[in-house]
Amino acid sequence: MNHHVFKDLVPSYMEHLTSEETTMQMEVHMEQCKDCRDYVHEMQEEWMSENVHEQAKEDRKVDYFKKVRSKNRKKILTIVTSLLSLFLILTISYYLLYIKMWIADPNDVQTTIQTQGNSVTLTFTSKQDNRYLLLRKEQLNQDYTDNMIVYEMREDLYTPENLKDGINISYTFLDENTLLLDNGKVKKLTANEKLSIQYKDRTKEISLIDLYHRND
Ligand SMILES: [Zn+2]
Repeated sequence: MNHHVFKDLVPSYMEHLTSEETTMQMEVHMEQCKDCRDYVHEMQEEWMSENVHEQAKEDRKVDYFKKVRSKNRKKILTIVTSLLSLFLILTISYYLLYIKMWIADPNDVQTTIQTQGNSVTLTFTSKQDNRYLLLRKEQLNQDYTDNMIVYEMREDLYTPENLKDGINISYTFLDENTLLLDNGKVKKLTANEKLSIQYKDRTKEISLIDLYHRND
């Protein structure tokens, strides 16, 4: 085997692609020829270092992706943090600017009592400009409204016109001792039948019998 043929075959030899016969011939030639032996060693070293180089490249690529991923993580964290802060700011602004309903201070509430026939109507209006009231009527222990919470609200574009004039509750009496309930039944009254009106820090109680007699 001459040197040229040998050198042509070296790449295939290194990848074990040469036939058994060729491989044998090449090894015989290598034993006799230092030049070709060195050439093979050189090629092997080059191949090895190339592999190492490739591996390093791969590693660098992995490193790069790791960096990108960690950068992305930081970016996502920043975005999430920003969104949370924004949400907090909006929530706080909302509470500061738009919360407009609270339990009324009794000093801000004007109460009037009107009798019309057998009906007695309690009307609540806010003494403050641009405020109006809402009533939460409850039947806690009786079949009629025996408890009420008075809320005050800020007027805005959506405030129903009829609420600006006050909000009311009516009781219908059959006589001074008898209340007609919404369900058509009647309730005999004693001094114990009361309406509790809850304001901020204060609860007022009105006896229903007194309510009937208020305008006498
Ligand atoms: Zn040779």
